[in-house]
Amino acid sequence: MGKQRHVHALEGKQRHVASPPAELVSRAREGQPLAVARLISLVEDASPALREVAAALAPYTGGAHVLGLTGPPGVGKSTLTSALITAFRARGKRIGVLAVDPSSPFSGGALLGDRIRMHDHTTDPEVFIRSMATRGHLGGLAWATPQALRVLDAAGCDVILIETVGVGQSEVDIVSLADTTLVLLAPGMGDGIQAAKAGILEVADIFVVNKSDHDGADRTVHDLSHMISLGRREITGPNWRPPIIRTTATTGSGLDDLMTALDTHHTWLVSHGELQTRRTHRAAAEIEAIALDTLRTRLRHLHGAEALDTLAKQVAAGELDPYAAAEAWIASL
Ligand code: GDP
Repeated sequence: MGKQRHVHALEGKQRHVASPPAELVSRAREGQPLAVARLISLVEDASPALREVAAALAPYTGGAHVLGLTGPPGVGKSTLTSALITAFRARGKRIGVLAVDPSSPFSGGALLGDRIRMHDHTTDPEVFIRSMATRGHLGGLAWATPQALRVLDAAGCDVILIETVGVGQSEVDIVSLADTTLVLLAPGMGDGIQAAKAGILEVADIFVVNKSDHDGADRTVHDLSHMISLGRREITGPNWRPPIIRTTATTGSGLDDLMTALDTHHTWLVSHGELQTRRTHRAAAEIEAIALDTLRTRLRHLHGAEALDTLAKQVAAGELDPYAAAEAWIASL
């Protein structure tokens, strides 16, 4: 934890010393943690420099395999993330981890000490771990998380793990950023039916039954495979049947199987053109989020605020209906 804190403390002090975005990006590409942290802060702060940063990052993105981890709180996401970091490091890969907390105003690693069991990795220069707070952003996660992802991607991460911290309906949104989505379940909690209700079954590329050292793991695996065999198309997808992998994240048991499943899925993504399809969807969502955010900002800050006030008075007085007012407001741009 020490080094991680240190990096953030340093970064905090330098926050007001402006480096040109292009220079920051080239330093990030060399793998300098400070530059990576600074770029992610620019994203979190919705800095006006972001546009230039995004342009500088664009040519260097697309190389990372993005893994999304989701599942109920306490299922072992953080512990498994740490075990996956170990496994990828053993292969010599550079890793980025984004722990996204949609409900928290804390950021910059403030939560890492408590929430993420990754102490073993914080002094490893090939591992970038960052927690992101997205509350308070208008349109929050929709545009901020993909931009942070781009930073890590351009910084040469071979693998990026996105983990949701805390609870929220944004889980599925975060997962939509991933090339490969892992849905974690554990015996006795978040069984198949509950998970289906939460809407996370449909997004799984790989199911992980963690805490397989606990009683009831067989039952959970059985319930899941039953649900998959019901053959719901949204679960099985075209030619891909999500495997169920048992792990014990605390000991690393099952990690080899999980790594094999990740490799297999990546190969499938590439050979079926699915990687391209998913990334195009992701880019479309990203463009839409940025466009809506831009539109909202323009409406509120240019002449829009005045126009809104005038229109609101008319609607309140019953002189205009709100739909016509909204049309007129948009037209005021
Ligand atoms: P998260 O909320 O999903 O991130 O879950 P955590 O990774 O924080 O884990 C919650 C608790 O479960 C911690 O006390 C972990 O040590 C424990 N845990 C995680 N994985 C396993 C496992 O495979 N077996 C057992 N017995 N405990 C585990």
